[in-house]
Amino acid sequence: MLDCSDTAAPPGIPFELARKYNVPGPRYTSYPTAVQFSEQASREALLSDAVGDLSGEGELSVYIHLPFCETLCWYCACNTITTRDHGQVALYLDLLRREIALWRSRLARRPRVGQLHFGGGTPSFLRPQEIGALGAMLHDAFDFTATAEVSVEIDPRRLTAEHVAAFRRIGANRASLGVQDFAQEAQRAINRVQSLEATADALRWIREAGFASVNFDLIYGLPMQTVGTFQRTLDEVIRLAPDRLAVFSYAHVPWLRPAQKIFERTGTLPSPEEKLALLQIGIERLTRAGYAYIGMDHFALPGDELAAAQRARRLRRNFQGYSTKAGLSILGLGLSSISQTPGAFRQNEKTLEGYLACINAGELPFTKGLLLQREDRIRQEIIMRIMCDREVDYAVLGARLGVDIPEHFREEIARLQPLAEDGFVELSAGGLRILPMGCFFRRNIAMVFDAYLASGAEHHSRTV
Ligand code: SF4
Repeated sequence: MLDCSDTAAPPGIPFELARKYNVPGPRYTSYPTAVQFSEQASREALLSDAVGDLSGEGELSVYIHLPFCETLCWYCACNTITTRDHGQVALYLDLLRREIALWRSRLARRPRVGQLHFGGGTPSFLRPQEIGALGAMLHDAFDFTATAEVSVEIDPRRLTAEHVAAFRRIGANRASLGVQDFAQEAQRAINRVQSLEATADALRWIREAGFASVNFDLIYGLPMQTVGTFQRTLDEVIRLAPDRLAVFSYAHVPWLRPAQKIFERTGTLPSPEEKLALLQIGIERLTRAGYAYIGMDHFALPGDELAAAQRARRLRRNFQGYSTKAGLSILGLGLSSISQTPGAFRQNEKTLEGYLACINAGELPFTKGLLLQREDRIRQEIIMRIMCDREVDYAVLGARLGVDIPEHFREEIARLQPLAEDGFVELSAGGLRILPMGCFFRRNIAMVFDAYLASGAEHHSRTV
């Protein structure tokens, strides 16, 4: 039987099944999800949890949010600031420096960083000398381990070889390129025109600079996409051969992202049947080209560390998607960034004005959070295992969490029965196994164990 990470294509997804399970649901980059973060959570308790955990000897993962973009891609659901004024960067870097100083003044030791991620927005909006200044600031404040993974999200439009060299000089060794689709009609419809040459140049500069792994982000379900245009995009992608691919479902959330209403007015979004066909062609072409299907929307060449981490059961989900560094606490810096420790989540102020006001007042800029209860941690772990692994062994997981899993989740396991009948999971007394069809429906399987779903499902995008 096929496993999720076998390179052969998983079976076709019947439209009736996709329609039945295409419901709003979290992507489980965290559990509980950010929808549950509250301004009412005790600030002192959130701070003391963070200071205790981040002062420990363990390695940290640091996330830096760089929010600027020159233009807005109309599908975008990130927290961005659209501007052509590069003058704001110096102010923002100064705010980051002061936020880091606020953390450092509270921590008992100099943090050791095993993972650093530059996200956004567009990190390559910064000029090469600004990238250098940011790197110097980070190396001043933190120690980096010899094997630190330093990744950066890259927009190939307006990128130069100097940007890539600047990121490499400050330690970047992994890059993720926003591609979405090479079809010009789709690119015009989403306000993101990006030539094939720009992407190929970016990839060449990154490879020549010695980055260890390159990811491409694609999106299916965009306006004007057809099976034909997406096939041609996939042909080009396979020819360029990135180490990893994320093929995201376009998340239509116009109540959160008003720019997406344009797509409703133009009536150019593919129908649910067409969207499913795009997904099928993506899975089929990529697995046939030798990519392992990691699950949900991620693919990796079998030699890539993401595929190796899944085989070794070291895969985790975090706010950047799948990660090979299991269980590191995350220190999020910059506006809207999220920090995660075993006991809590904290989210920074989302607007530049609010972020600036906190820093000017000498306060750490988190304004929301959630303190995890024991039950949250138990559910977090089983949801994480469903999202990352091929099977969940109740005895192994139960021993780690100190609970009798079949007893604790009696109701939830009973609710998995229809999913078993639909071919997503195989249930036994000792555990559950994700079947090839279920690899795509991991979100739906995990949702069975989500205690908060009733209060907030409408905030999430649909699962297909
Ligand atoms: S460049 Fe990226 S972050 Fe900026 S608007 Fe486009 S998709 Fe969003």
